[in-house]
Amino acid sequence: MLTDLNNTDIKELSEIYDHENKDSFISLYLDMDSPDSKFVGRRKNICKSVLKGNKELSENFEKSIQMAEEYLNESDREKGQRGLAIFTSNIHDFLKVYQLGMPVENLLIVDTSPYIKPLARLVDEYESFGLVLLDSHRVKIYVVSSGKVGYQKKKAIDIINKHKKGGMSQARFQRLRKGAIDHFLKDILDDVEKLFLKKEVVRIIIAGSGNAKTMFNNILPPHIKSKVIDIIDMDFDEAQGRLISKAKEIALEDEKETSEQNMSRLTGEILKNGLAVHGLKDTMDAVKNGQVDLLFINKGYQIKGWICEKCQIVDSGVKDKCPYCGSKTSEIDVIEEIIEFAQRTGTTIEFVEDDLRLAKLGGVGGLLRFKT
Ligand SMILES: [Zn+2]
Repeated sequence: MLTDLNNTDIKELSEIYDHENKDSFISLYLDMDSPDSKFVGRRKNICKSVLKGNKELSENFEKSIQMAEEYLNESDREKGQRGLAIFTSNIHDFLKVYQLGMPVENLLIVDTSPYIKPLARLVDEYESFGLVLLDSHRVKIYVVSSGKVGYQKKKAIDIINKHKKGGMSQARFQRLRKGAIDHFLKDILDDVEKLFLKKEVVRIIIAGSGNAKTMFNNILPPHIKSKVIDIIDMDFDEAQGRLISKAKEIALEDEKETSEQNMSRLTGEILKNGLAVHGLKDTMDAVKNGQVDLLFINKGYQIKGWICEKCQIVDSGVKDKCPYCGSKTSEIDVIEEIIEFAQRTGTTIEFVEDDLRLAKLGGVGGLLRFKT
């Protein structure tokens, strides 16, 4: 089954690391839209040659990559699968696989912990949305999460036949018909309310022909209405593929707009010296403190740095030994570490299309819940 990726999965991964600073975890991401059959072999040879001097890590690498390869040989591609993420470590007896309905780039990384940046980006980009397609007597309700249709429900009522019998007047028929439609819309609302709450739907799109969609939108309570991002004209019998891809476009566009609005909030707070931080060190400290409500990261951003997993200290630059405990450190991408701390402290992450304003602020920043 395709993985329904959510923040809980990533949080669990973010809590796993080698307490002795050893590069004992392999993270393998594979693009399955355009597979490169030689990719794993190529990266494997490079990593092996780098680890050669260290017997323990070489052995762990061999065995860990073998676990991943065995999985690859034995498993089939799922319907709709576009990517794969595998995390393994032989000495930690660890194997975790995610079959993704979203695209990823090929990556093989050896590090002191699972490399979660690509997964965190996917969660930000593919927030789940709900789609309600309706006319006066039929409805289809969809939840699209992790880039795939995760849930779908159909309902219909037979208004015309129910009220056609007998010689009733046109006015009486219209009244009954309107009552039946109102009842039908309330029934849909019940379903939508329960389902969208359960599936953590962030955005809602209403579609259909005629005015049932507007009538439905009008009866929504505020906490649901505020999530409606668009109401679109769509034939009820439109092919599902076209319908879903249109809805995905709208959701993605809205994600971008929200991201832009959030960036404006960040710059606004910084100008007022308000509830915001920016730059590597201040942002990292605030994230570790649990102060950050929304963390901003420029998408392509990487910063070379080091980590002592024992002390959980991270900094940019190069240091072979931890200045606090003297342990051998590990070379890392500081951005990846900020993401891991953010996941552990329940911080929402906003990946920003490479933004010059954010770049000038040090590539990272955050809106704060509180100041100390
Ligand atoms: Zn240390």
